[in-house]
Formats: sequence, C-alpha cells, structure tokens
Amino acid sequence: MVGIVVVSHSRALARAAVELAGQMLHGHGPKIAIAAGLDDSTLGTDAVQVKDAIEKVDAPDGVVVLLDLGSAVLSAELALDLLDDAVRERVVLSPAPLVEGLVAAVVTAAGGGTSAEVAAEAAGALAGKQAHLSDAAPGASDGARDDNAIRGSFVVGNAHGLHARPAARLVAQVRTHDARVQLTNLSTGAGPVPASSLSRVATLGARHGHEVEVSVTGSQAPEALDQILALAARQFDERDGQSPTPQTESAGPLAASPGIAIAPACRADARTPTIPDQEPGDVAARWRQLREAIAATRRDLARTRARVARETSENDAAIFDAHLMLLDDAELLTDARSRIDSGLGPARAWQEAVTRVEHEFGALDDAYLRGRAADVRAVGDQVLRHLLGLAGGLGSAAGILVAADLTPADAAELDAGLVRGIVLAFGSPTSHAAILATAKGIPMLVAAGAQALDIADGTRLVLDADTGALIVDPPEDTLGEYETRLAERARAQAVAHAAAAGPALTVDGTTIAINANIGSVDDAKAAADAHADGAGLVRTEFLFQARSEPPSVEEQETVYRAITDAFGGRRVVFRTLDAGGDKPLAFAPVEHEANPFLGVRGLRLSLRHRDLLLQQLRAICAVAEDAAVSVMFPMISTVDELGQAIAVVDEACSGRRPEGLRVGIMVEVPAVALKAAAFAPHVDFFSVGTNDLTQYALAAERGNPALAALADPLDPGVLRLIAELCRDAGTVPVSVCGEVAADPAAAALLIGLGVRSFSVAAPAVANVKQAVRAVDAASAADLAARALACASAGDVRALTIDG
Ligand code: PEP
Ligand code: MG
Repeated sequence: MVGIVVVSHSRALARAAVELAGQMLHGHGPKIAIAAGLDDSTLGTDAVQVKDAIEKVDAPDGVVVLLDLGSAVLSAELALDLLDDAVRERVVLSPAPLVEGLVAAVVTAAGGGTSAEVAAEAAGALAGKQAHLSDAAPGASDGARDDNAIRGSFVVGNAHGLHARPAARLVAQVRTHDARVQLTNLSTGAGPVPASSLSRVATLGARHGHEVEVSVTGSQAPEALDQILALAARQFDERDGQSPTPQTESAGPLAASPGIAIAPACRADARTPTIPDQEPGDVAARWRQLREAIAATRRDLARTRARVARETSENDAAIFDAHLMLLDDAELLTDARSRIDSGLGPARAWQEAVTRVEHEFGALDDAYLRGRAADVRAVGDQVLRHLLGLAGGLGSAAGILVAADLTPADAAELDAGLVRGIVLAFGSPTSHAAILATAKGIPMLVAAGAQALDIADGTRLVLDADTGALIVDPPEDTLGEYETRLAERARAQAVAHAAAAGPALTVDGTTIAINANIGSVDDAKAAADAHADGAGLVRTEFLFQARSEPPSVEEQETVYRAITDAFGGRRVVFRTLDAGGDKPLAFAPVEHEANPFLGVRGLRLSLRHRDLLLQQLRAICAVAEDAAVSVMFPMISTVDELGQAIAVVDEACSGRRPEGLRVGIMVEVPAVALKAAAFAPHVDFFSVGTNDLTQYALAAERGNPALAALADPLDPGVLRLIAELCRDAGTVPVSVCGEVAADPAAAALLIGLGVRSFSVAAPAVANVKQAVRAVDAASAADLAARALACASAGDVRALTIDG
C-alpha cells in the first residue's frame, strides 16, 4: 500500500488533518507519517524531519507527500535530495490542497491505488468544492480571470503604515486561503502586487491613512476578503502604542555584566560576507546549496524566535516572523533561481536577488519602511553566511555588539579585545551567555527591547552596565561625563589589581579563597594571570557543545591538563557535564520538555548517558594523578543520585582514587541545602550555585527577563537555605560559585553565613579580594543574622550598604 506523509508548519494541524482523513476509512488504511512543526508548539518545517517521515512509511508501492504552504514545499524538495536514490524514485510530492488532498489520498491508497493514482486523486480533490461554491456564489467564480475578482478596500490605521510586522500578519493570513490576492495603494497608485509576497507588499509604501484596494480570486475568495478586511480593521493585530521607531534612550535594559563602554554599534547581522569570484557546481547543485542555506537560516531564526517567545513575549517574538517570511518569499526565491539558471553561483545569485528587494525598500517614501531594508539585508546575510560556511561567526565583531539574543556558543566566540560591550534586545542577566560575557569582562545589557534592533551599525553608543543605561548617539557633554567615569573606574581597578597577587584575609585574619569560574583553557590562563587562588568551577560544557560527537577521553584529558597546568599547582574543581536546560547537546538530545530547567539536566542527563560520564571521569581521574583536582556534580537532588555518581568515579579510577582527588556537589536544588547533614558524610565540599538555587527557591526562571528583579540571590529565603547548609555541613567546607559571589556588596554577608571560599569570573577576582579585606568576621556574623530576619531582598541590600 502507498505510504502517505503530511508536511505542515503546524503539528497540531497535521494531527487534526490525519484524524479527519482517518474518519473516511472503514477498515485498514495506509501508513501515515507526520513531519510538522519544529516542536509541539513552534511553527515551521524541517527537511530532516520530512526525510525521516518518508523513510518511516516507505513501501515498494511508493510514498505520496502532501504539503501545506511555502517552506513546506522547500523542505520537502530538500528532503528528496537527502534520500537514497532508490527511495527518492518512489516519492511523489503532491501539489494538492492539504486537507482535501489528504482525505482523497488516504481513501485511494486504502483502496489499493498506485502512487500515481493516489497523487492524481489528491490533486483533483478540490473539484467538488469548486463546483459547489461556484453554483452557490456566482461572485466567487473560479478566479481564473481578474475581472471576476471580488474587491474591497481598507484605510491603513497603523501609525507606521503597513510596515514589516503588520505586513507579515497580512501575508500569513493570505497564505492560509486558496485565493489569489492583489493589493493596490489607491492613495499613491502603487501596485497591484501579490499579497502573498512580503517584499512586494512592503513596496506598496502604504502609510497611515492610505486606502488600499484588495482584489481576490479563487475558490476561497469571499472568506479571504472578509478576513483580510477584518484583520485591517483590527490594525493587523498590532498592539496600541506598539512603536517600531527607534528611541534615543532605551526604556529599561538590565545589567548582565558590569562595566562601562563607549564605542560604535556593531550589528551582529551587519557584516556582509565577501563572495568568492568562482562558485563551483552545476545548476542543480547550486540551487540545492542555496535551499540548504535557507533551511539552515530558517532553523536558526525559528530557534531564536522560540527562545524569545519563551523568555520575553510572543509579541516580541513576532518580529522574527517577518524575517522567516522573507525566506519563503516566492518572488525572491524565483528571482534567485533564475539568476542561478542564467549561470550565477548560489551566493552571487542570492545576493543580487536580495539587493534588488533591499533597493525597492530603500526607494520608498516612508522613512520607517525605508529602514526595513536593513531587515532584508540581515536575513539575506544570514543565508549568505550559511552558504559560505561562516555561520555564527561573531569572532571578528568589534565595538558594542547589538543583537537580538546570544546563544552560549555565540558568546563563547566573542573576542574581548574587540568587543567592548554587548546590548541584547532580549536575553536575561543570569543566562549562560551573560555568564560568559562576565567571564570575558565584557560589559553587557540585556532586555533592551526590540527597538535596540533599530540601532544602525556604526551609531555611537554609551553602555553603562553599572546603572543599566544605554544612550544612543550621546551629546558631547554626556560623552565627556562617561569618559571621566571610565577613567575613574580604570584607576580603582588598577589599585585592586596591584593588590591582587596577595591573599584575601579578613580584618581578623581569616583566609578566604577567591577562586575563578572558567569555561576554557584561555579562561584558565586569564584567571591564573588575575591571581585567582584556584579554579572553583570549571564549566566543562564548553568541550561538549556544538559538536556532533562527544570528545574522546584523550581529548578531554589534554584539555583538563592544560587547565591544571595554567594554575600551576593551585586546586582546580572540574564540574561534570552540566547540559540540558538552556545548554542542549547535539549528540545527546533530550525529548521535548515543557519545563527544561525542571527536566533532564546536569547529573540527571549524565546518569542517563553513563558512558559519557564514565569517560569524563576517566579523564579527570587521570589528570588528578598529577595535579590538585576536585570533581563536583551539578543539579543533584538526592543522596541516591550522589551514590550512583560516586560509583561511576570508583569505576573510572578502577577502585583506587588518586590521593588528592576530592569529590563534592553543587547545591542548586533547595532540598539539597536542607539535607546537608545527609550529604555531608559522602562529600569533601559543597559549592553553592546561587544562579540555579535562586531560580528554584523563588520559582523564577533565570532566563526570563520579566522575572529578573524577583530572582534576587539576596532574598532572605535564599540566604536561609545557605545558612542552613553552612550549619549542617559540619566540617565540610562551603563555597559559593554563583554570580552573587562576584558582588562585592555580598562578601561580608556570605562570610557571615559561614562561606569560606568564593568562585567568581576572572575579571572580578581583584575586586572581590579587596572587598574581603574590609570584612571583620564578628561584624559579618552579626550582619548575616540581621539579614536572615529581613523581609525582602531590598531590605537585605539596604543592610549591606548601611552595615
Ligand atoms: C549556578 O547555578 O549558580 C552555577 C554556578 O551553575 P551554572 O550557572 O553553570 O548553572
Ligand atoms: Mg547551575
């Protein structure tokens, strides 16, 4: 029996269509597989999913693929390229309408039809509805001739006209109908243009108050017209006051890494790659390369969109819809294709097609719409970078980097010598990207709002991550003030650095170890140069991310040894792989989780991939034979998990632990802080991860900027957990390695609670040592007792300032 594949942007839609088609069967039906959505709730299509679905239902009789719109077609075509030749020959991509076609296909396949018959029945599936509706509604004839079009008009009510976001909303609506829709700007005479093309709609230059005529043909013309006019009446669902114009000063960015920077803006997406003179390949290969690059860009954008929707709002995420739609724009793709057909390489053809659209935008009267040319260029360049193998390359960004968001992998690539500051439209202060920026000493603001994306490349910026201010194109006197502050900061740093080599002794002579948090061999060298007393946290994830295979034991051992060498005998604490949450692993994917931060992450993931953990521990144990090494486990919840992890340590070192090897745990789960007495007999140390401990104690996700003010590690509830831990730990030492350890205001408080070592980003080592030198143990204990009695983090902060 012929197999059927349903390709759709929406998993829910595909499932519903399959359920509906199933109702037409009386008995045994064909095998049906779905390749729909990027996950249960994110719209999109993916060629690899389509390929897998085809392979799942492949049969000697062949496979018929039914598709919805736009990128579904591209993904299916690309999937064909990925299949073995023998399978590909049996596959038919059907141009039939998805729902009607699927019903017809399923019934025909169940009746034993060949793949050609199934495809033909599907393709003819609209005939009945067309005949019915043309009898019932003479105005909505078959739509073949434009004089049969039905027409209506609307006046643009959006303050900034039909700019990218409302236009994207309109195009999305149009694409849901079997109808051909043309738009004409009656106020200027521009058009008609097809409403299914975002780039063409924007060229109408439809501004506030312009009248736009909608002309529709096709079987669903009446519904399409009604819905378009209703959408226009709702101002394309744009929220009141939602202004896309740039502001000179941002509404409320959050500081994510301290410091001040004055430099020109460097848009993450503004560096147009250079295209080589010669591009190899025949026409088919070139077209395939371009489609692959477009598919990869679509996946990147969909990931960013999903992340922004999760961490900020659906409304902010919608700006990426316009970008995604450009990738589906039939006019743009057809233009690029014809340029490839006429002999150009894929990068050159794509660049020329994109430049044409960009110029059309640039020639418009409306200043805001003219500014959208930058969006076209941004998306175009993203595709070019994939085509030229330069994707993600932020290694050469210089100035103040302005981006929508940064993944931990993006942040890891940044060169602190070139990037003076970072401004993210979205993002959060305790994300791993923020931690990496802090480690590199790069000042960073997050949650600056979508308007940050309107800052043009090269615009002069002042970024003040000490107070959370972003000043775009500052006046000379403001600039002067900031230059003075920058110089004062540099002087204070110089004093701290001059004393950094000495130990951190409190006034009464207690030694507090100030270690470093590191995430690479370079970090280790920087931390050793910054006079850290050791490494209190090595985030080993850096070795595992962005690769398709895990590193071998030998590779791990080499890197770990380079780290211990950099510290020259000072103790190094390796944390085992802490993947999951916002740090996915390509080679150990986790099933979709509704709440990844409460899911399979940290040690939970490692225990499910025991071999991976065993290999990592073998490498750590080997290095521990020759250096002062500790190992600790992240995201631990129970003594039982610790027992399992220790069993793997014992297996890794064949039952004979290296003499200096110490074993500890991260305290990130509130229950662990309260069970310290049960853990204490089994560990050599505790290390408090306040970033996670705070998010779990206050039920405020660390990546969510809307909750950043709530997720304060100085909340008395979090402090009580640390106090309880220190009390029940007995003689087992307690360290703090979360971001709060780098806050000089928190030093006395944490020492007063019983913490005896800190682990901070290398650039903070000197300042934290200075802060510790001002602490007296007895008054710190008194301060801590008063903090525990406070009602709020604000009260605690006031105490740390007033003493
Ligand atoms: C923490 O949770 O505080 C911590 C140090 O671990 P990470 O930030 O890597 O999750
Ligand atoms: Mg953590």
